[in-house]
Amino acid sequence: MYTLGVTGGIGSGKTVFCRFLEAFGARIFYADLEAKRLMQHDEAARAAIVAAFGAESYADDGSLDRAYLADHVFGDAERVATLNGIVHPLVFDAFEEAKTRAAAEDVELLVHEAALLFEAGGDAHVDAVAVVVAPEADRVARVVERDDTTPQAVRARMQHQWPQEKLRARADYVISNDGSLEDLRRRAYTLYQTLTTP
Ligand code: ATP
Repeated sequence: MYTLGVTGGIGSGKTVFCRFLEAFGARIFYADLEAKRLMQHDEAARAAIVAAFGAESYADDGSLDRAYLADHVFGDAERVATLNGIVHPLVFDAFEEAKTRAAAEDVELLVHEAALLFEAGGDAHVDAVAVVVAPEADRVARVVERDDTTPQAVRARMQHQWPQEKLRARADYVISNDGSLEDLRRRAYTLYQTLTTP
């Protein structure tokens, strides 16, 4: 079995790219979804988050209080690092378990999709990394439409991410999403074939 990391900036198309890989037979591990799940449901994660940021991190009904975390954690680099230090190792444990399961079930390609793959050290857990890139204007327009937001808000989020050139420099495969969805599907098919053909 081959393991592939997939990343890219906001609106680059990494999620649709992964959906295409999935349709060809890959199994996708969505790291950001897994992180959310762990923060909500994993006892060790909950205990560490309460110890670091207070019992107010969770509402009375036990759900994660995202507004509280937004106010008390996300604006502060040191606190974000603390939260990541709690959550990322648990995400990687879950990915290693997913690897064991996928191998036992004869999955040919297991994909680790993450917005901050390199920043979190996720590249160390996969055989290779594909970076999805697209022209900035396309990314902005697509996210404005997808999220019903403004170009300014999308650009502000981009400022906090690695520039595409830096992602490209670390990539084993660069996937250009500069055409139609059908073009992207074809590129996904080519990569799927490359990685799964013995
Ligand atoms: P984020 O980091 O914000 O989650 P992403 O990299 O996962 O973004 P996607 O959600 O896959 O990006 O794509 C962004 C939007 O652009 C989606 O609505 C998707 O359907 C659309 N999209 C992606 N690629 C294309 C394309 N080649 N042509 C038209 N629309 C596209």
